[in-house]
Amino acid sequence: MSLERWYEWRDAPSGDFAVVGDPVAHSWSPRMHRAAYAALNYSWEYRAIRVPAGELEQALKALAQKKYRGVNVTVPLKQEAFKCTRPEIGAISRVGAVNTIALPSMMSTNTDGIGLYKALLESHVGPGASVLILGAGGSARSAGFVLHRYGYHVTVWNRTTETAAALAGEFGLRWVETPRTAGFDAVLNATSASLADADLPIEWSGRGLAMDMMYAIEATPFMQRAQSAGWRTMDGREMLLWQGATSFVWWTGIDPPIGVMREAISA
Ligand code: NDP
Repeated sequence: MSLERWYEWRDAPSGDFAVVGDPVAHSWSPRMHRAAYAALNYSWEYRAIRVPAGELEQALKALAQKKYRGVNVTVPLKQEAFKCTRPEIGAISRVGAVNTIALPSMMSTNTDGIGLYKALLESHVGPGASVLILGAGGSARSAGFVLHRYGYHVTVWNRTTETAAALAGEFGLRWVETPRTAGFDAVLNATSASLADADLPIEWSGRGLAMDMMYAIEATPFMQRAQSAGWRTMDGREMLLWQGATSFVWWTGIDPPIGVMREAISA
């Protein structure tokens, strides 16, 4: 898919909704949300806007003045967004990251975990399943916290072992030093290794679902290895779909057209 037209936050025209990050041109959120607006006959605009780290609070104030009412947040701004907005009371204070902000109120929430949960359910991996999460960054934190809460048995592996141990200790998860897939129903790649086409030192055996959180039309190296080992695979598009749909409802109170949004991010 082609890169999205994007704006620097100081130059952004007025609009209704946006995704902010740095870089932001690779985000598929604009095409997905715009397809939903078109299907519902709304003339809203959803833009991609670059906001460098350290400038989010200033940028959000400027976007509020330009009449934006909702903003999605992507890398590397999710923790910064948690600090400079008003996160909903409850679970997300444990995760420490937000991906959805309402303007001008600056209320915020995180829909990544629920997006992942819905994607897993659609792939028939429900509560009670045993899940190995690879990574201990922002996405792994929110995945580990939410899945544990929903009744999954979660184990974490990370390249930097200390971070995996700390994450597991904080949320009451298991952690391992070597990523062996035997005995797991699902393996979630929440590392950014696929962004760099890098391989992970996984010892594949058993059978289950291997999901890469990165969205990609072509199978990532992680997905290719999993397929060779006989695992079924999916990329991060269903997660993107459900986190976006949840943001949509949170901002507008309107049920989004899921089929249209899914079609907009399919190959
Ligand atoms: P972070 O930068 O917070 O975390 C990166 C993680 O990847 C760390 O655990 C890091 O390990 C690990 N890592 C990086 N490079 C390698 C490597 N070469 N080998 C092994 N481990 C590596 O990233 P995020 O959590 O924000 O994002 C992770 C992925 O999830 C990205 O691909 C992102 O696109 C995707 N994502 C998808 C979403 C969706 O809707 N589909 C939503 C959110 C994220 P270490 O601690 O050792 O450095």
